[in-house]
Amino acid sequence: MDYLVRVMSEAKNVVGLACVTTGLVEDAHRLHGTSRTASAALGRALTGGLLMGALLKRGQRVALKFEGNGPLKKIMVEADPEGTVRGFVALPQAEVPLRDEKLNVSGALGNQGLLTVFKDLGLKEPYQGVVKLLTGEIAEDIAYYYAESEQIPSAMGLGVFVNLDGRVSAAGGFFVQSLPPSEEKVVNLLLDNIRKIPTVTELLRQGKTPEDILTEVFAGVPYYSLGGRDLSFHCPCNRERIEKVLISLGAAELQKLIDEQGQAEVTCEFCRSKYDFTKGELEALRAEGKSAS
Ligand SMILES: [Zn+2]
Repeated sequence: MDYLVRVMSEAKNVVGLACVTTGLVEDAHRLHGTSRTASAALGRALTGGLLMGALLKRGQRVALKFEGNGPLKKIMVEADPEGTVRGFVALPQAEVPLRDEKLNVSGALGNQGLLTVFKDLGLKEPYQGVVKLLTGEIAEDIAYYYAESEQIPSAMGLGVFVNLDGRVSAAGGFFVQSLPPSEEKVVNLLLDNIRKIPTVTELLRQGKTPEDILTEVFAGVPYYSLGGRDLSFHCPCNRERIEKVLISLGAAELQKLIDEQGQAEVTCEFCRSKYDFTKGELEALRAEGKSAS
C-alpha cells in the first residue's frame, strides 16, 4: 500500500515526486520500539531517503546520517531506487515534550549538528557531502543539502502522524527539483503553491494520494507521469554478512569474544534481527579470518 509516483514538467525542467509511507514507517516503529517523536523523526528520514533514492539509477544507493545535539543523537537511513529503505535511531526511546501541540522533531534531533549524505553511484569512491543541520526538521535539512552541496534548487515536504497509542496512521512526502535550464517563473509558481497547500500530514489525513499532492504542488505547471513504484522497509542483512563483519574484527578480537563470552549474539542495528554464534562457530570464523589474511 506504500508507493511513490514521479512526474516531469512538460518543459522538462522540473521533476516532482510524492509518496505515501504509512505502512513502512509503522513497520519501523514496531521493529525499533520508537517513542512517538522518534517515530516521526525516523519516519520523515525514511521517507526523505526514499524520495532521494528515487532519483538514482538502478544499483545505486543513498545513505543519510543525521547527527544532532538532541536526545535522539543520530538517525541513519539507507535507500535505493527500487523502493526499499532501512533505518534506525540511536536512542529510539528518547522523547521530548510537544511543541505547539505537535511532535517536536527538531527538539528531539536537535537543531545543531550535521547531515552527511553518502551516495554509492557505482564509482570507485562513494560520493559524500556534509552540511550543517538547518532546522533539524529533516525536510528542510535535505533541501538545504541539495542547495548547498549539489547546487540544485529543491523543495521537500515530509509528514508523519503518530496516534496517541504510538501507531503511525499517516506518513509521506513530496520532493520537487528544478533542472537546468530553470525558469524563474515556474520555480516561483511551485514555491507559491507549496506555501499555500496544507502540510503533508494534513493532506494525507484528508485522504489525499501522492498523485493528489503532486496535482496541488504543480497547479499551473503542465506535467506528465513517469510512473510509480511500491515502497517497503527492507533490510538486506543475513548471516553471511554478519559473519563477514565478525571476521573483519580480526582474530584477536574474536579470541577475546570466545574467551570472555564463549558465544555471541549480534543484533543488526537497522532491523533488530538477531544472529547467534556458538563458541565453535566463532572459532571457525577466527580460523577463516586467519587463512584469508
Ligand atoms: Zn538487518
